[in-house]
Amino acid sequence: MHLIALQKIDTETQKVLQSRKDLPLRLARLDTDFAAVREALEEERNRLEAKNQTHRELEEALKKGMEQLRKTRDRIHEVKSNKEYQAVLKEIETLEQKHGIVEDKIITILEEIDTMKTSLAIREGEFQASGRRYEEEREKLEKRIGSIESQLQERQRQGESMREKIPKNVLKRYDMTKNVNQGLAVVSAWKETCDGCHMSIPPQLYNELLEDTEELIMCPNCRRIIYWYDQNKESV
Ligand SMILES: [Zn+2]
Repeated sequence: MHLIALQKIDTETQKVLQSRKDLPLRLARLDTDFAAVREALEEERNRLEAKNQTHRELEEALKKGMEQLRKTRDRIHEVKSNKEYQAVLKEIETLEQKHGIVEDKIITILEEIDTMKTSLAIREGEFQASGRRYEEEREKLEKRIGSIESQLQERQRQGESMREKIPKNVLKRYDMTKNVNQGLAVVSAWKETCDGCHMSIPPQLYNELLEDTEELIMCPNCRRIIYWYDQNKESV
């Protein structure tokens, strides 16, 4: 039955048309998702760099503090009074306290940097893997998008040549039915049930289907063109 073949071709054409709409959207979503992953990693790298910068500044402060401490300690040999001596001692004590605070900060920040480096290394590895998946997926999608127009032309050409084999009045009925049924005009029937609407077909009508007549038979419920298809054949 040419109508069955035409329906198959038209259904395929619909799928290709749908893909022509969907694939560019999927590609755009893929790009957006991957850009977000890359951005998150970039942020993590920046956070680590900021910590490293703070660490360098603390080391610098520590160096300056030590220099100041050294100079202050040297001044002990130059003091001329006990009062002055006490003042320098006080100054040294304050500087030593400051020094200790900076040292503690450095220990803390080095631990933080260590933790961040470990987690970043894991993230970098994951990023490499997802980058490869992204490239593969992107290539596949672009390939499919690239071939979609020729696929569509091929299906349409098949459809045209199939239509030439079908009488005009039958085509008219087919097109009308297709338009009101979301593109599906011809469906199979099996065990007295229409595969389009899953309602039962009256036995007399079902028997007509089995007779393999040239006449078009409609499902009394969904009004689609039905044909008998032995579904036992599929499992063989
Ligand atoms: Zn039906």
